[in-house]
Amino acid sequence: MLFSRLDGARVPIILLASLVSSAANSSIFFATDIPEEQRRLMEADLETLTRVSLDRSDEKLKDLFRIPEISNDALQEWLESRVKYVVAKDFYVWDHLYKSPTEVIYPPIKLGVPLVKYLPPIPNTSTRSIMAMMKNVGGGIYSSGRSVNHAYLVSIPGLEKKVSVVSPRVGIVQVGEGLFAVRPKTSSLPVGSVVFSYYRMGILFHEARHSDGNGESLLFSHSSCPPGHDYEGHFACDFNLNGPYTIGAQFFKNLLTACRDCSKIEKSVLKVLVLDAASRIIRVAPRFTLEDSMKLTSRRKHVFSCYQKEELDQKHGPLKDGLCTEAALESSRSEIREIYKKGLANLLIPAPLVARVLDPAPEMLVAKEK
Ligand SMILES: [Zn+2]
Repeated sequence: MLFSRLDGARVPIILLASLVSSAANSSIFFATDIPEEQRRLMEADLETLTRVSLDRSDEKLKDLFRIPEISNDALQEWLESRVKYVVAKDFYVWDHLYKSPTEVIYPPIKLGVPLVKYLPPIPNTSTRSIMAMMKNVGGGIYSSGRSVNHAYLVSIPGLEKKVSVVSPRVGIVQVGEGLFAVRPKTSSLPVGSVVFSYYRMGILFHEARHSDGNGESLLFSHSSCPPGHDYEGHFACDFNLNGPYTIGAQFFKNLLTACRDCSKIEKSVLKVLVLDAASRIIRVAPRFTLEDSMKLTSRRKHVFSCYQKEELDQKHGPLKDGLCTEAALESSRSEIREIYKKGLANLLIPAPLVARVLDPAPEMLVAKEK
């Protein structure tokens, strides 16, 4: 999933929609309940992808995408093998799921180093606004099917036949509440700028990576951002070198290099997008002493329990509890940050073990022989 912070500014969708020239020559199917304006914008984005100038000498992008050459066709093909259907913001997945009659066998789980364990999540109880741009629901459905050992079929509005979820690459992505509500982090970008289109394309490429992987790399799930990070405590960081944020960063970097027609402002927006994505790639892990590790566990438990209590309070009214005052919570959070900082100073975990290139090959399930 891709999150972005709200900056309060809204994209004037109607004005942007007027720039739409023609429907994209793309195989991606848009569910019929997607509002017309949104569909036209996304089709125009895909159309832009077929003719945008690319930096063809970008070896990093070539390696990352594992494509023989950089071309508009190759990028489109890469995207369309991972994103095949777009469903509306209000698509409630459980209303569209059917158990497949075919019995299936999932490949055995071959878990490697559990990556997330090095980054202790700190639940963030602040009211900071974070919203989803898009969600790869197809990957989630595959993973749910995996956990109960059967395959699902999904009905998509406008499609006669149900889609069979037999691979994480089923490619169903859902429009998030922020996709058309948030503009890139600037207020100075001209309304008709092509950079809005680049921004949404980058989000699509990010989501496409969530259709990849097997075993430990399945879906290239995000890790919790470490203490001190802009997105501290949110699952909005990657602990690998070829995940969705690397894909996004390299994609924006390529467009930035190739965009000769971009104005200074547009270039600076693309730079911000590169930096934002790159800042979510975490390359180092802290090493804790036993004592610190125990303290960390207890402080995290404290913050977590108060976080759950806050949800309960909202449901049932406030429960009086001195343990969850703002001061008590802040004290635990600052201790977590201190321990983390100390752990980072003892960088004993070799970087390649922590942030490494994961296997993007998608796993497949097979029909059981009768
Ligand atoms: Zn994501």
